[in-house]
Amino acid sequence: LRDYTHDKHRMTDDAPYGGGPGMVMKVEPIVEAIEKVRGAGPVLLMSPQGERFNQKMAQELAGEERLTIVCGRYEGFDERVRPFVDREISIGDYILTGGEIAAMAVIDSVSRLVPGVLGDSESLTEETFSDSLIEYPHYTRPDSFRGMEVPEVLLSGNHEEIRKWRRREAIKRTLERRSDLLDGLELSGEDEEMLKEIRGGK
Ligand code: SAH
Repeated sequence: LRDYTHDKHRMTDDAPYGGGPGMVMKVEPIVEAIEKVRGAGPVLLMSPQGERFNQKMAQELAGEERLTIVCGRYEGFDERVRPFVDREISIGDYILTGGEIAAMAVIDSVSRLVPGVLGDSESLTEETFSDSLIEYPHYTRPDSFRGMEVPEVLLSGNHEEIRKWRRREAIKRTLERRSDLLDGLELSGEDEEMLKEIRGGK
């Protein structure tokens, strides 16, 4: 941002009008930087006041040609930055010292959805949140560890039974950990049946 300042000291922040603690990021360097670097695609502003970032947003952003991400520091930025951004994003209800780590979380989750970034694109389809369920549990070798066994069905080679077991486990976990995700989710007849069984303690 210093490259976009005009004063001799190349100040990117200043004291807040009206007094109070901390410093505020100046509007001109941010806006000039946005105008210089933005291409086709949205400008995102990292802010705890923004929309809460989630997998659906990651998917939307993965379809963009380019993303420009603006990070605040200190107390935040001059309010007049807001009209120059398309979307304000928060990564959760807590305060960081700066937007960079939040931006990295967004960059990481978005870029792994870009075709070719992950080796096995199959792994994207069944993931936690991709259809709003928490993912089923995973196991790899050995089949026995300190008395904990890999569920029989996974060793059976019966693909239909494995599919059903995984679906049922995903529903069960979601119910146990994040039942809020089930609200408003369209479940298939089979899912409804599984949910009923799980709720009935079977
Ligand atoms: N005083 C501000 C917070 C400033 S935190 C307020 O109450 O809104 C400093 C900078 O860190 C912010 O400008 C933002 O870019 C970044 N930041 C802090 N918490 C964040 C969060 N949860 N999500 C995204 N960015 C965050």
